[in-house]
Amino acid sequence: MQTNILSLCYLIGSVSFIIGLKMLSHPATARKGNLAAAAGMAIAIAGTLFLYRPAGIEFHNFQWIGSALIIGTVIGSVAARKVKMTAMPEMVSLFNGMGGLCAALISIVEFGHIAQDHAAMHVLSIIAGMIIGSVSFSGSMIAYGKLSGKITDHAFRGQHIFNLVILFVILVMSALIVMGYIAVPIFIFCIILALSLVYGILFVLPIGGADMPVVISLLNSFTGIATACAGFLYNNPVMLTGGILVGSAGAILTILMCNAMNRSLKNVLIGSFGGAKGASGPAAGGEGAYKEISLNDAAMVMGYAHKVIIVPGYGLAVAQAQHACHELEKSLRENGVEVKYAIHPVAGRMPGHMNVLLAEADVSYDDLLELEPANEQFSSADVVLILGANDVVNPAAENDPASPIYGMPILEVGKAKLVIVNKRSMRPGYAGIENQLFFLPNTSMLFGDAKDVLQQLISQVKAL
Ligand code: NDP
Repeated sequence: MQTNILSLCYLIGSVSFIIGLKMLSHPATARKGNLAAAAGMAIAIAGTLFLYRPAGIEFHNFQWIGSALIIGTVIGSVAARKVKMTAMPEMVSLFNGMGGLCAALISIVEFGHIAQDHAAMHVLSIIAGMIIGSVSFSGSMIAYGKLSGKITDHAFRGQHIFNLVILFVILVMSALIVMGYIAVPIFIFCIILALSLVYGILFVLPIGGADMPVVISLLNSFTGIATACAGFLYNNPVMLTGGILVGSAGAILTILMCNAMNRSLKNVLIGSFGGAKGASGPAAGGEGAYKEISLNDAAMVMGYAHKVIIVPGYGLAVAQAQHACHELEKSLRENGVEVKYAIHPVAGRMPGHMNVLLAEADVSYDDLLELEPANEQFSSADVVLILGANDVVNPAAENDPASPIYGMPILEVGKAKLVIVNKRSMRPGYAGIENQLFFLPNTSMLFGDAKDVLQQLISQVKAL
């Protein structure tokens, strides 16, 4: 009876993950999807704690498990409530790293059981979980440091070969343990653990420019796979389902991100070596003359335009100007202007960042244009208003083969009659490279914090 109820809990948990993931694919249902999956996870945890009794074994350590649950819940809830929208990618990396660490710790604990249980598949899942979890943990910590600006890109000559050698040593040692050829496996196990942690660091450290979105989703996928290994080990369907879902969703996202950047995964992981931030072109400022436009003139051209396309970027999130942006959109519409938003897949600092930001301000999903339709519509726009975007509109991606973002599809805003760029200075964006768009004849700069500028534009448009 107890076992049947536990199976039911696991079934509910697994189904809620699948439904939750499906609901996460649309902004309108994403919040409920997250709650549904969390509720399923809570049911699965409660079921395990109170109903899981294999072969009559009594459960101990309730005080430890309870304390860990309380501490984790408090830290997680406070961090999630307090985190600024712009710091979300860092938090995602940090939490992803914790998931990898948990999977690795499970393998470390369970390695002690190998002596009693030599089933090769179990040994394999323990070692695979430990390697993938450790790589995910140390790699995510480096990604966290890089996204929060605490760590810069680093690469040394021959690093690619060095990484491959580490990987080769890890795989050979693992194979020897799985096949039972090693007399003192614990010693080798510790070496594999240390090498995996080092590999995670070295693999993420040099990746820079605009390639971090791909790495983040890849690390996310690693954590899922490591969790699935633990699920296989414990024969736990919820862990297995959750791990497979995260692993496959992360892998699909990695492929989509690569397509969005027009790069192969190999190119992202290997091509970045030596291609650290700012490797091409000056890191700041830039030569040539740029034009400025006054707030008054900007409001005038937008207020009397037929069609305005807004391009949001990371700066909009920094300024928390999404509500002001929606206000401007409404004011323009009241003047009879058609307004659309052009969304680049890697704008901001996490996949879907701009969609989440604009959904928060109740911008209609129907007004968002993805990259290709947006590029078809720019030539019919009177004005493109760029709000804190830089790399995603940088023509160097199309015409400078030496640029670290070369090959990434961009929003071709230059096709519009007038491009107004709002940012605070001539400083570069995430990739650390100059943007020739700012010096084109049909581009005008509108300097200032996005929120301040938008608020002033709104009042000027209303006064027209
Ligand atoms: P960028 O980082 O290229 O540029 C953002 C611009 O916003 C900066 O040039 C900055 O200029 C400006 N800005 C900052 N604060 C403000 C403010 N308060 N008001 C107005 N402007 C402001 O952003 P994009 O969105 O164009 O491109 C995203 C980049 O991040 C890409 O390179 C992408 O690969 C990378 N990335 C994306 C991830 C994802 O998953 N989406 C994850 C990790 C990285 P100034 O300082 O002069 O104001």
